[in-house]
Amino acid sequence: MTETVTNWAGNITYTARALQRPHSLTALAALVADSAKVRVLGSGHSFNAIAEPGADGVLLSLAALPAEVDVDSSARTVRVGGGVRYAELARRVDGHGFALPNMASLPHISVAGSVATGTHGSGVGNGSLASAVREVEIVTADGSTVVIGRADQRFGGAVTSLGALGVVTALTLDLEPAFEVEQHVFTELPLAGLDFETVAATAYSVSLFTDWRAPGFRQVWLKRRTDQPLPDFPWAAPAVEKMHPVPGMPAVNCTEQFGVAGPWHERLPHFRAEFTPSSGAELQSEYLLPRRYAVDALDALDSVRDVVAPVLQTCEVRTVAADEQWLSPSYGRDTVALHFTWIEDTAEVLPVVRRLEEALDAFDARPHWGKVFTVPADVLRSRYPRLGDFRELARTLDPEGKFANTFVRDILAD
Ligand SMILES: Cc1cc2nc3c(=O)[nH]c(=O)nc-3n(C[C@H](O)[C@H](O)[C@H](O)COP(=O)(O)OP(=O)(O)OC[C@H]3O[C@@H](n4cnc5c(N)ncnc54)[C@H](O)[C@@H]3O)c2cc1C
Repeated sequence: MTETVTNWAGNITYTARALQRPHSLTALAALVADSAKVRVLGSGHSFNAIAEPGADGVLLSLAALPAEVDVDSSARTVRVGGGVRYAELARRVDGHGFALPNMASLPHISVAGSVATGTHGSGVGNGSLASAVREVEIVTADGSTVVIGRADQRFGGAVTSLGALGVVTALTLDLEPAFEVEQHVFTELPLAGLDFETVAATAYSVSLFTDWRAPGFRQVWLKRRTDQPLPDFPWAAPAVEKMHPVPGMPAVNCTEQFGVAGPWHERLPHFRAEFTPSSGAELQSEYLLPRRYAVDALDALDSVRDVVAPVLQTCEVRTVAADEQWLSPSYGRDTVALHFTWIEDTAEVLPVVRRLEEALDAFDARPHWGKVFTVPADVLRSRYPRLGDFRELARTLDPEGKFANTFVRDILAD
């Protein structure tokens, strides 16, 4: 490539022979049909080589396509183009008096790229972001478009698809009436005696943060819908100042706190659309495991906190309701998600990631597809009961493996 293209974190430099930004769907379809190897680059917020097509491949950006956001008020749905980010989608949907059920910690990410990797927010009743998708439009290897809706038996593989089926050019999502949310932050929740199920269910979305420098959680963020009861939270003290999940970072980057009610899309993410999310200089890992293991898994983390803490900026614990996407890390099980924002030093972080994975091995943990992990592909395969169905679907839609890169081939190997 003549230009250097990296992911958001800067730890991956794509080696593709070309970056293509078609301006129309017709041009996109022709480009796909004429290329031997293609991977789509969304907003580039993944921390691993999932989007890398390889040196002989084409990296395809949808950023130059028209940013379609079509709300159908009577059907309560929105059809969104394959390059659109949540910030834009949320603003447009809210303008029509509607809401998405949930959002990730930041609105800067593309919708298609997020649902492709099983991206999620928090809430015992909230599925991953892919759960809101009802139909997906995919340009497949020969340039033709396939539309797969919920009633289609292929749907379970079609949304959280790791980009392996083709180019997602549009998605249709369910909407609900717009709602307001208040954010309440508490400090110093002890780990000893933690009733995780009760704490996680105190509000619509709950996040616990720790730096693992001591047992327990430095912060608890409750996101309460104003149409639901005010939570009682007797286990920790209310924060006395606005907080950022990464110690030392400016809280101005974060969405409003102190119980000030506001629109759903300005409270469900932790980070405001107009600022850099998180720390900016970082790597991330995340492991999703059955929620019933939450307390045992947190104890296991506590036992390795001396190893983890030196390279950790913050650890966030969230919940995700079971979903039905075959490759979703929260497929088929109510989930606790253990997230780690590391320092940006890969050499320092990787050995710690390995140690952490050993500590979580007994809990059937599935790593986030878009983050740093070292779990071997054969172990990953054993943790996805519908992987074989996905492999078949990929072979049907992409028989020559045009969209299969090294990352995907490892996961789909027989
Ligand atoms: C600061 C930060 C905070 C984050 N917070 C969260 C969080 O709260 N929850 C969470 O679960 N994750 C979180 N993530 C991870 C992030 O949501 C995922 O990495 C997600 O995949 C990012 O979407 P993207 O468009 O940037 O994907 P990319 O990294 O660009 O691509 C990811 C995958 O999707 C494929 N893809 C993208 N667009 C298309 C398309 N149109 N058609 C076909 N395939 C496509 C790519 O080929 C690739 O395989 C965070 C990441 C960062 C950097």
